[in-house]
Amino acid sequence: MSPTAIITGITGQDGSYLTELLVSKGYVVHGIVRQTGVLTPPRLAHLIREPEIYGSQLFLHYADLNDAMAIRRIVHQVAPDEFYHLAGQSHVGLSFEIPESTCELTAMGTLRILEILRELENPPRMLHASSREIFGTPPYIPQTENTPFDPSTPYGCAKSFATQLVKTYRDAQGLFCCNAICYNHESPRRGENFVTRKITIAAARIAAGLQEKVGLGDLAAARDWGFAGDYVEAMWRMLQQETPSDFVLATGESHSVTDWLDIAFSRAGLRWEDHVETDNSMFRSTDPCMLLGNPQKAESELDWKRTVGFEELVDLMFDADQERVCQELEKTS
Ligand code: NAP
Repeated sequence: MSPTAIITGITGQDGSYLTELLVSKGYVVHGIVRQTGVLTPPRLAHLIREPEIYGSQLFLHYADLNDAMAIRRIVHQVAPDEFYHLAGQSHVGLSFEIPESTCELTAMGTLRILEILRELENPPRMLHASSREIFGTPPYIPQTENTPFDPSTPYGCAKSFATQLVKTYRDAQGLFCCNAICYNHESPRRGENFVTRKITIAAARIAAGLQEKVGLGDLAAARDWGFAGDYVEAMWRMLQQETPSDFVLATGESHSVTDWLDIAFSRAGLRWEDHVETDNSMFRSTDPCMLLGNPQKAESELDWKRTVGFEELVDLMFDADQERVCQELEKTS
Protein backbone atom coordinates (compact mmCIF):
# COMPACT_ATOMS: atom_id res chain seq x y z
CA MET A 1 0.00 0.00 0.00
CA SER A 2 1.18 3.54 -0.74
CA PRO A 3 2.52 5.48 2.23
CA THR A 4 0.35 8.44 3.21
CA ALA A 5 1.49 11.85 4.42
CA ILE A 6 -0.19 15.00 5.68
CA ILE A 7 1.52 18.33 5.01
CA THR A 8 0.58 21.58 6.77
CA GLY A 9 1.76 24.61 4.80
CA ILE A 10 1.46 22.66 1.54
CA THR A 11 0.77 25.87 -0.41
CA GLY A 12 4.09 27.39 0.69
CA GLN A 13 7.53 27.19 -0.90
CA ASP A 14 8.66 24.07 0.99
CA GLY A 15 5.22 22.44 0.95
CA SER A 16 5.11 22.52 -2.84
CA TYR A 17 8.61 20.99 -3.24
CA LEU A 18 7.88 18.36 -0.60
CA THR A 19 4.62 17.44 -2.36
CA GLU A 20 6.49 16.91 -5.63
CA LEU A 21 9.06 14.75 -3.85
CA LEU A 22 6.51 12.58 -2.04
CA VAL A 23 4.32 12.17 -5.13
CA SER A 24 7.41 11.07 -7.08
CA LYS A 25 8.04 8.46 -4.38
CA GLY A 26 4.50 7.08 -4.69
CA TYR A 27 3.00 8.65 -1.56
CA VAL A 28 -0.61 9.73 -1.24
CA VAL A 29 -0.34 13.33 -0.01
CA HIS A 30 -3.01 15.21 1.93
CA GLY A 31 -2.40 18.92 2.25
CA ILE A 32 -3.94 21.24 4.81
CA VAL A 33 -4.91 24.55 3.24
CA ARG A 34 -6.38 27.58 4.95
CA GLN A 35 -9.34 29.33 3.37
CA THR A 36 -7.98 32.37 1.54
CA GLY A 37 -10.36 32.66 -1.42
CA VAL A 38 -7.66 31.33 -3.79
CA LEU A 39 -9.10 28.31 -5.57
CA THR A 40 -5.87 27.03 -7.10
CA PRO A 41 -2.83 27.72 -4.92
CA PRO A 42 -0.22 28.96 -7.45
CA ARG A 43 2.67 26.82 -6.19
CA LEU A 44 0.56 23.66 -6.57
CA ALA A 45 -1.20 24.61 -9.81
CA HIS A 46 1.03 22.39 -11.98
CA LEU A 47 0.14 19.35 -9.81
CA ILE A 48 -3.56 20.20 -9.54
CA ARG A 49 -3.75 20.36 -13.33
CA GLU A 50 -2.53 16.74 -13.59
CA PRO A 51 -5.60 14.43 -13.48
CA GLU A 52 -3.47 11.40 -12.60
CA ILE A 53 -2.12 13.24 -9.54
CA TYR A 54 -4.87 15.49 -8.20
CA GLY A 55 -7.65 13.39 -6.68
CA SER A 56 -5.62 10.18 -6.70
CA GLN A 57 -2.25 11.04 -5.17
CA LEU A 58 -2.89 14.56 -3.96
CA PHE A 59 -5.83 15.78 -1.87
CA LEU A 60 -6.39 19.17 -0.27
CA HIS A 61 -8.39 19.80 2.90
CA TYR A 62 -9.44 23.15 4.33
CA ALA A 63 -8.37 23.91 7.89
CA ASP A 64 -6.77 26.81 9.67
CA LEU A 65 -3.98 25.82 12.01
CA ASN A 66 -5.91 27.47 14.84
CA ASP A 67 -8.80 25.05 14.29
CA ALA A 68 -7.92 21.94 16.30
CA MET A 69 -11.28 20.30 15.62
CA ALA A 70 -10.83 20.47 11.85
CA ILE A 71 -7.24 19.24 11.99
CA ARG A 72 -8.17 16.36 14.31
CA ARG A 73 -10.93 15.31 11.87
CA ILE A 74 -8.52 15.30 8.92
CA VAL A 75 -5.88 13.35 10.86
CA HIS A 76 -8.46 10.72 11.89
CA GLN A 77 -9.81 10.42 8.32
CA VAL A 78 -6.41 10.15 6.68
CA ALA A 79 -4.54 8.13 9.36
CA PRO A 80 -1.18 9.22 7.88
CA ASP A 81 2.14 7.41 8.17
CA GLU A 82 4.02 10.73 8.16
CA PHE A 83 3.06 14.25 9.19
CA TYR A 84 5.09 17.22 7.93
CA HIS A 85 4.32 20.38 9.88
CA LEU A 86 5.52 23.27 7.72
CA ALA A 87 2.78 25.87 8.18
CA GLY A 88 3.74 29.10 9.82
CA GLN A 89 4.15 32.84 9.48
CA SER A 90 7.58 32.48 7.90
CA HIS A 91 8.77 36.11 7.68
CA VAL A 92 11.10 36.96 10.57
CA GLY A 93 10.95 40.76 10.15
CA LEU A 94 7.16 40.72 9.91
CA SER A 95 6.97 38.92 13.26
CA PHE A 96 7.75 42.25 14.98
CA GLU A 97 4.64 43.73 13.35
CA ILE A 98 2.34 40.76 14.02
CA PRO A 99 3.91 39.07 17.07
CA GLU A 100 0.71 37.71 18.56
CA SER A 101 -0.52 35.90 15.46
CA THR A 102 3.04 34.70 14.69
CA CYS A 103 3.30 33.12 18.15
CA GLU A 104 -0.25 31.78 18.09
CA LEU A 105 0.31 30.04 14.77
CA THR A 106 3.91 28.90 15.17
CA ALA A 107 4.03 28.04 18.87
CA MET A 108 0.47 27.10 19.85
CA GLY A 109 -0.25 25.66 16.41
CA THR A 110 2.57 23.16 16.91
CA LEU A 111 1.34 22.28 20.40
CA ARG A 112 -2.14 21.59 19.01
CA ILE A 113 -0.71 19.23 16.40
CA LEU A 114 1.45 17.36 18.91
CA GLU A 115 -1.58 16.90 21.17
CA ILE A 116 -3.70 15.61 18.28
CA LEU A 117 -1.00 13.12 17.30
CA ARG A 118 -0.42 12.00 20.89
CA GLU A 119 -4.08 10.90 21.19
CA LEU A 120 -3.74 8.45 18.29
CA GLU A 121 -3.25 4.74 18.83
CA ASN A 122 -0.68 4.67 15.99
CA PRO A 123 0.73 8.19 15.73
CA PRO A 124 2.49 9.08 12.48
CA ARG A 125 6.12 10.13 12.34
CA MET A 126 6.18 13.91 12.58
CA LEU A 127 8.55 16.55 11.23
CA HIS A 128 8.54 20.15 12.45
CA ALA A 129 10.15 22.89 10.34
CA SER A 130 12.19 24.72 12.95
CA SER A 131 14.55 27.59 12.22
CA ARG A 132 18.06 28.90 12.83
CA GLU A 133 16.29 31.89 14.43
CA ILE A 134 16.10 29.81 17.64
CA PHE A 135 19.82 30.59 18.10
CA GLY A 136 19.48 34.40 17.90
CA THR A 137 23.03 35.71 18.03
CA PRO A 138 24.81 32.47 18.89
CA PRO A 139 27.99 32.22 20.97
CA TYR A 140 29.94 30.41 18.23
CA ILE A 141 30.01 29.51 14.55
CA PRO A 142 29.04 27.24 12.98
CA GLN A 143 25.97 26.22 14.96
CA THR A 144 25.02 22.60 15.56
CA GLU A 145 22.09 20.68 17.01
CA ASN A 146 23.61 21.38 20.47
CA THR A 147 23.86 25.18 20.21
CA PRO A 148 21.77 26.77 23.01
CA PHE A 149 18.54 28.59 22.15
CA ASP A 150 18.74 32.37 22.52
CA PRO A 151 16.13 33.81 20.14
CA SER A 152 16.01 37.54 19.49
CA THR A 153 12.79 37.91 17.46
CA PRO A 154 9.13 36.99 18.13
CA TYR A 155 9.46 34.47 15.28
CA GLY A 156 12.56 32.95 16.93
CA CYS A 157 10.83 32.81 20.33
CA ALA A 158 7.82 31.02 18.83
CA LYS A 159 10.05 28.56 16.94
CA SER A 160 12.08 27.91 20.13
CA PHE A 161 8.92 27.07 22.05
CA ALA A 162 7.73 24.75 19.27
CA THR A 163 11.17 23.12 18.89
CA GLN A 164 11.43 22.42 22.61
CA LEU A 165 7.89 20.99 22.62
CA VAL A 166 8.82 18.60 19.82
CA LYS A 167 11.81 17.39 21.90
CA THR A 168 9.56 17.09 24.97
CA TYR A 169 6.88 15.06 23.19
CA ARG A 170 9.62 12.83 21.77
CA ASP A 171 11.33 12.25 25.14
CA ALA A 172 8.32 12.25 27.46
CA GLN A 173 5.51 10.92 25.25
CA GLY A 174 7.49 8.63 22.96
CA LEU A 175 6.35 10.28 19.72
CA PHE A 176 8.58 9.86 16.65
CA CYS A 177 8.95 13.59 16.08
CA CYS A 178 11.92 15.57 14.78
CA ASN A 179 13.02 19.16 14.31
CA ALA A 180 14.55 20.21 11.00
CA ILE A 181 16.54 23.25 12.17
CA CYS A 182 16.52 25.04 8.84
CA TYR A 183 18.80 27.83 7.73
CA ASN A 184 17.51 30.11 4.95
CA HIS A 185 16.46 28.26 1.85
CA GLU A 186 15.27 29.88 -1.32
CA SER A 187 13.91 29.06 -4.75
CA PRO A 188 11.91 30.65 -7.56
CA ARG A 189 8.88 29.87 -5.32
CA ARG A 190 10.13 32.02 -2.41
CA GLY A 191 7.67 34.72 -1.27
CA GLU A 192 8.20 38.06 -3.02
CA ASN A 193 8.66 39.89 0.30
CA PHE A 194 11.98 38.13 1.03
CA VAL A 195 15.19 39.98 0.14
CA THR A 196 16.41 37.25 -2.21
CA ARG A 197 13.27 37.40 -4.39
CA LYS A 198 13.20 41.21 -4.16
CA ILE A 199 16.66 41.22 -5.72
CA THR A 200 16.01 38.71 -8.50
CA ILE A 201 12.65 40.30 -9.39
CA ALA A 202 14.18 43.79 -9.40
CA ALA A 203 17.11 42.72 -11.60
CA ALA A 204 14.71 41.13 -14.10
CA ARG A 205 12.32 44.10 -14.14
CA ILE A 206 15.07 46.73 -14.37
CA ALA A 207 16.67 44.84 -17.27
CA ALA A 208 13.28 44.86 -19.01
CA GLY A 209 12.89 48.60 -18.45
CA LEU A 210 9.91 48.14 -16.09
CA GLN A 211 11.50 49.84 -13.09
CA GLU A 212 14.58 51.89 -12.33
CA LYS A 213 15.37 51.48 -8.62
CA VAL A 214 14.96 49.03 -5.77
CA GLY A 215 15.08 49.84 -2.04
CA LEU A 216 16.88 47.37 0.24
CA GLY A 217 17.95 47.25 3.88
CA ASP A 218 21.37 46.21 5.19
CA LEU A 219 23.46 45.14 2.19
CA ALA A 220 26.13 43.64 4.45
CA ALA A 221 23.66 41.28 6.15
CA ALA A 222 24.89 37.73 5.63
CA ARG A 223 23.08 34.41 5.78
CA ASP A 224 23.56 30.73 5.10
CA TRP A 225 21.40 30.33 1.98
CA GLY A 226 20.51 26.98 0.38
CA PHE A 227 17.99 25.62 -2.14
CA ALA A 228 14.53 24.66 -0.83
CA GLY A 229 14.35 21.51 -2.98
CA ASP A 230 17.43 20.14 -1.21
CA TYR A 231 16.01 20.87 2.24
CA VAL A 232 12.75 18.98 1.72
CA GLU A 233 14.78 15.95 0.61
CA ALA A 234 16.54 16.06 4.00
CA MET A 235 13.19 16.44 5.80
CA TRP A 236 11.93 13.26 4.13
CA ARG A 237 15.16 11.41 5.00
CA MET A 238 14.77 12.45 8.65
CA LEU A 239 11.49 10.54 8.90
CA GLN A 240 13.01 7.39 7.33
CA GLN A 241 15.57 6.94 10.16
CA GLU A 242 15.30 4.24 12.82
CA THR A 243 15.21 6.72 15.65
CA PRO A 244 13.91 10.29 15.75
CA SER A 245 16.41 13.11 16.09
CA ASP A 246 16.93 16.79 15.30
CA PHE A 247 19.09 17.93 12.39
CA VAL A 248 20.60 21.24 11.30
CA LEU A 249 19.90 21.76 7.60
CA ALA A 250 22.36 24.29 6.24
CA THR A 251 25.05 24.79 3.64
CA GLY A 252 27.89 25.81 5.99
CA GLU A 253 28.58 28.83 3.72
CA SER A 254 27.81 32.47 4.43
CA HIS A 255 26.94 35.01 1.74
CA SER A 256 25.89 38.63 1.92
CA VAL A 257 23.06 40.55 0.28
CA THR A 258 25.79 42.18 -1.82
CA ASP A 259 26.77 38.73 -3.14
CA TRP A 260 23.15 38.27 -4.29
CA LEU A 261 23.25 41.67 -5.99
CA ASP A 262 26.57 40.97 -7.71
CA ILE A 263 25.39 37.71 -9.25
CA ALA A 264 21.80 38.63 -10.13
CA PHE A 265 22.55 42.07 -11.59
CA SER A 266 25.56 40.91 -13.57
CA ARG A 267 23.41 38.12 -15.05
CA ALA A 268 20.97 40.87 -16.05
CA GLY A 269 23.84 42.84 -17.64
CA LEU A 270 23.53 45.63 -15.04
CA ARG A 271 25.57 47.28 -12.28
CA TRP A 272 23.57 47.02 -9.04
CA GLU A 273 25.28 50.19 -7.72
CA ASP A 274 23.28 52.18 -10.33
CA HIS A 275 19.91 50.87 -9.13
CA VAL A 276 19.95 50.02 -5.42
CA GLU A 277 18.85 52.56 -2.81
CA THR A 278 19.42 51.84 0.85
CA ASP A 279 16.23 52.14 2.87
CA ASN A 280 16.96 52.63 6.58
CA SER A 281 13.41 51.60 7.52
CA MET A 282 14.26 48.08 6.32
CA PHE A 283 17.15 47.60 8.75
CA ARG A 284 16.33 45.15 11.54
CA SER A 285 16.97 46.39 15.09
CA THR A 286 18.21 42.96 16.16
CA ASP A 287 19.64 41.49 13.02
CA PRO A 288 21.29 38.23 14.03
CA CYS A 289 24.90 37.84 12.98
CA MET A 290 27.14 34.81 12.74
CA LEU A 291 24.29 32.57 11.60
CA LEU A 292 26.04 29.72 9.90
CA GLY A 293 24.94 26.11 10.21
CA ASN A 294 27.01 22.96 10.39
CA PRO A 295 25.26 20.32 8.25
CA GLN A 296 27.70 17.55 9.28
CA LYS A 297 25.17 15.45 11.22
CA ALA A 298 22.67 15.55 8.32
CA GLU A 299 25.43 14.71 5.84
CA SER A 300 26.74 11.73 7.80
CA GLU A 301 23.54 10.28 9.31
CA LEU A 302 21.09 11.08 6.50
CA ASP A 303 23.62 10.73 3.70
CA TRP A 304 22.32 14.12 2.55
CA LYS A 305 24.21 16.59 0.42
CA ARG A 306 22.91 19.74 -1.18
CA THR A 307 22.82 19.67 -4.96
CA VAL A 308 22.54 23.40 -5.71
CA GLY A 309 25.41 25.78 -4.90
CA PHE A 310 25.05 29.48 -4.08
CA GLU A 311 25.76 30.95 -7.52
CA GLU A 312 23.54 28.39 -9.22
CA LEU A 313 20.73 29.25 -6.79
CA VAL A 314 20.88 32.97 -7.61
CA ASP A 315 21.05 32.16 -11.34
CA LEU A 316 18.05 29.88 -11.27
CA MET A 317 15.96 32.41 -9.33
CA PHE A 318 16.94 35.26 -11.64
CA ASP A 319 16.23 33.16 -14.75
CA ALA A 320 12.77 32.20 -13.44
CA ASP A 321 11.92 35.84 -12.66
CA GLN A 322 13.21 36.98 -16.04
CA GLU A 323 10.97 34.41 -17.71
CA ARG A 324 7.97 35.63 -15.68
CA VAL A 325 8.68 39.24 -16.65
CA CYS A 326 8.92 38.25 -20.34
CA GLN A 327 5.60 36.40 -20.12
CA GLU A 328 3.95 39.44 -18.50
CA LEU A 329 5.32 41.69 -21.21
CA GLU A 330 4.05 39.35 -23.94
CA LYS A 331 0.57 39.35 -22.39
CA THR A 332 0.40 43.15 -22.31
CA SER A 333 1.89 43.76 -25.76
P1 NAP B 1 5.98 29.93 3.23
O1 NAP B 1 6.27 29.83 1.79
O2 NAP B 1 5.71 31.27 3.82
O3 NAP B 1 4.75 28.96 3.56
C1 NAP B 1 4.06 29.02 4.79
C2 NAP B 1 2.85 28.11 4.72
O4 NAP B 1 2.12 28.21 5.96
C3 NAP B 1 1.87 28.49 3.60
O5 NAP B 1 1.35 27.32 3.05
C4 NAP B 1 0.79 29.24 4.37
O6 NAP B 1 -0.46 29.24 3.73
C5 NAP B 1 0.74 28.40 5.63
N1 NAP B 1 -0.01 29.08 6.70
C6 NAP B 1 0.23 30.32 7.16
N2 NAP B 1 -0.69 30.61 8.11
C7 NAP B 1 -1.52 29.53 8.22
C8 NAP B 1 -2.65 29.22 9.03
N3 NAP B 1 -3.15 30.10 9.92
N4 NAP B 1 -3.24 28.00 8.88
C9 NAP B 1 -2.77 27.11 7.98
N5 NAP B 1 -1.70 27.35 7.19
C10 NAP B 1 -1.08 28.54 7.32
O7 NAP B 1 7.18 29.30 4.09
P2 NAP B 1 8.31 28.23 3.65
O8 NAP B 1 9.49 28.98 3.18
O9 NAP B 1 7.70 27.17 2.81
O10 NAP B 1 8.70 27.64 5.07
C11 NAP B 1 8.08 26.45 5.59
C12 NAP B 1 8.34 26.37 7.07
O11 NAP B 1 9.75 26.34 7.29
C13 NAP B 1 7.80 27.57 7.87
O12 NAP B 1 7.31 27.11 9.11
C14 NAP B 1 9.04 28.43 8.08
O13 NAP B 1 8.93 29.22 9.24
C15 NAP B 1 10.11 27.36 8.22
N6 NAP B 1 11.44 27.86 7.85
C16 NAP B 1 11.65 28.33 6.58
C17 NAP B 1 12.89 28.82 6.26
C18 NAP B 1 13.17 29.34 4.86
O14 NAP B 1 14.25 29.92 4.67
N7 NAP B 1 12.29 29.15 3.91
C19 NAP B 1 13.94 28.81 7.20
C20 NAP B 1 13.68 28.32 8.47
C21 NAP B 1 12.43 27.83 8.78
P3 NAP B 1 -0.87 30.37 2.65
O15 NAP B 1 -0.30 29.90 1.33
O16 NAP B 1 -2.34 30.36 2.69
O17 NAP B 1 -0.25 31.66 3.10
